[in-house]
Amino acid sequence: MSDPKRVAIIGAGMAGLTLARALAGHATVHIFEKSKGIGGRMATRRIEDISFDHGAQYFTVRDPRFRDMLNAAAADGAVERWNRDIVSLPAALQNEQRANDARYVGKPGMNALPKWMARDCDITFNAEICSISGTPGNWTVTTEAGEDGAFDWVIATAPAPQSAALLPPAFAHHAALQTTRMNACFTLMVTLKLGAAPPFPAARLDDPVINWISRNDTKPGRDNVPSLVVNAGPEWSARHVETPLESLREQMLKAVRRYIPLENTEAESAVIKRWRYANVARPAGQPFLLDREQQLASCGDWCIAGRVEAAFQSASLLADALLPALRETTP
Ligand SMILES: Cc1cc2nc3c(=O)[nH]c(=O)nc-3n(C[C@H](O)[C@H](O)[C@H](O)COP(=O)(O)OP(=O)(O)OC[C@H]3O[C@@H](n4cnc5c(N)ncnc54)[C@H](O)[C@@H]3O)c2cc1C
Repeated sequence: MSDPKRVAIIGAGMAGLTLARALAGHATVHIFEKSKGIGGRMATRRIEDISFDHGAQYFTVRDPRFRDMLNAAAADGAVERWNRDIVSLPAALQNEQRANDARYVGKPGMNALPKWMARDCDITFNAEICSISGTPGNWTVTTEAGEDGAFDWVIATAPAPQSAALLPPAFAHHAALQTTRMNACFTLMVTLKLGAAPPFPAARLDDPVINWISRNDTKPGRDNVPSLVVNAGPEWSARHVETPLESLREQMLKAVRRYIPLENTEAESAVIKRWRYANVARPAGQPFLLDREQQLASCGDWCIAGRVEAAFQSASLLADALLPALRETTP
């Protein structure tokens, strides 16, 4: 028997972790993650002891394999339904499809699900891959700290523009990466005073600046302090990608005040985050990008749609296609 193939996965978000779990036992898999934590855009952060889901707000489930995994995570307490109603302001915005889907969240924070998925994964954090070099079957990935080599396969799960910049020119699917479009999004996190919470758990908004306000504390297992997560709309975010954050923070706070009477201290404590590649405006139109000859691949939500479940599906389908190649013996 020949040695198991070595696979490098770039990114420890939903796609990278799904892939690592699916390939485990069939290859030696190592994940390189540029940030210090797990989950990518399934993100949770603490500000003065209050936690905020400042990336994905919730996820829906239709794929049977995704459902199976969530059932297992739920049995371990890492996922729960978020049953609260989302209102639309104005009410005419209501989208029946969205309203009828059951919504789930990680517990106690959105990143609890990726953390649960990563339990047996081999991950190097603070490892931003800046280049991939070598030849098919013998790839080297380079970080600021140095090189790691002799990978049979390298798979990039970073957002499409970042994967495009990383994958060598020989990768056969650069055209699909180039046609993919991702939107920016600004997220504002606000801690409210007890008793100052808005009368809705979450709202979709028809507003020129913001399109979403949720009360993070209405999700299961969160801190019992009213806290808001506010998202800016895609058009406004696209116009302001390079605008200084402080000015955007003020504009978002002004927009929030159209719905909730914030006090000064609450506004002062608000923190803004820029997601340069948050959502998918135009997907790649293929469930994954696989170059068998170069032994390079790429996957992520941007292949299908800007949803957590789409990231899972893209990676699961890529794993299905890759497994036979990983079983082939090296000549
Ligand atoms: C504000 C916001 C709100 C959202 N709301 C929802 C929602 O309500 N419902 C829903 O279903 N989805 C939502 N989404 C989308 C959802 O978060 C994504 O679809 C999903 O998390 C994408 O997973 P992924 O693994 O494809 O990508 P990512 O989560 O982006 O993972 C990619 C990983 O690659 C890492 N990486 C990038 N470059 C490098 C490099 N050079 N070297 C090493 N590592 C690298 C990144 O740090 C990241 O961890 C939202 C996203 C945002 C930002």
